[in-house]
Amino acid sequence: MTATLMDGRALSRQLLDATAERATAFQLAHGRRPCLATVLVGDDPASHTYVRMKVNRCAEVGIESRRVDLPASTATEELVGLLRDLSADPRVDGILLQHPVPAQIDERAAFEAIPAGKDVDGVTGASFAAMAFGDPGFASCTPGGIMRLLDAYEVPLRGRRAVVVGRSAILGKPVGMLLLGRDATVTYCHSRTVDLAAHVREADVVVAAVGVPELVRGEWIKPGAVVVDAGYNPGNVGDVEFDAAAARAGLITPVPGGVGPMTIAVLLSQTVDAAERHAQG
Ligand code: NAP
Repeated sequence: MTATLMDGRALSRQLLDATAERATAFQLAHGRRPCLATVLVGDDPASHTYVRMKVNRCAEVGIESRRVDLPASTATEELVGLLRDLSADPRVDGILLQHPVPAQIDERAAFEAIPAGKDVDGVTGASFAAMAFGDPGFASCTPGGIMRLLDAYEVPLRGRRAVVVGRSAILGKPVGMLLLGRDATVTYCHSRTVDLAAHVREADVVVAAVGVPELVRGEWIKPGAVVVDAGYNPGNVGDVEFDAAAARAGLITPVPGGVGPMTIAVLLSQTVDAAERHAQG
């Protein structure tokens, strides 16, 4: 392997420590802890695991969590009603709706019931617009974590070619917007892209956000390129063929221990941001 590993575990630890200090300072100043409401609909085991991890991390850093679990049969109107109640509750600073939600729910309508000021997961249209326009607002957590990793390893972005593989609303699209905002020349690839390999071969920075194990082949990586693998597939396999990519890349994220730990750390950091903003009125 020639690439240097981008250590998301260590970087997320730093961010969690800083968040814990800010949460303590907030409690001293305001007599209450910052509060994250988590909303989980249905019985998906992976979603339960993700919510449990988030609640545990909240406790570690001194953020109060309010967990709401709803049955799989929940209708859109019920979910929207609950999210509106949490939005109106002054003791709740941030709201996370765990996705995916069951098929009968209009996920977009549910997300849009969360006001921008409490959208600490960065999933609403307003948060997406803020990322696209470079306005203040909350980043989608995984894209926000990716940008923090790139910055921590001082990856130059201005004028560089960035190829984002994947265009989901919470990952591919916003990370491309954030890279564009930093003056990278951004190409989005997706399931209809013709000759994915040719695009990736041109990239100074590759972000893989697909959900297909090892789709991005090591031999496609330009020597010295920066490879960020957001994919997380069964068996701890990413979306990049790791060993072959690491033999050519300059920097690469491992799976696990790269992008994944950053996501929760950004969520909690943004929850304290939201609490501080609410306290300032
Ligand atoms: P998603 O909503 O399923 O989107 C996948 C994207 O990949 C789509 O845009 C799709 O294209 C594209 N795609 C699928 N097959 C492709 C192919 N053969 N060639 C090129 N593009 C292809 O997934 P997501 O929510 O963005 O998640 C992507 C990955 O990131 C998953 O492995 C997920 O587990 C992981 N993830 C990790 C974190 C974390 O915290 N680390 C957080 C979120 C997600 P179309 O748009 O054309 O369908």
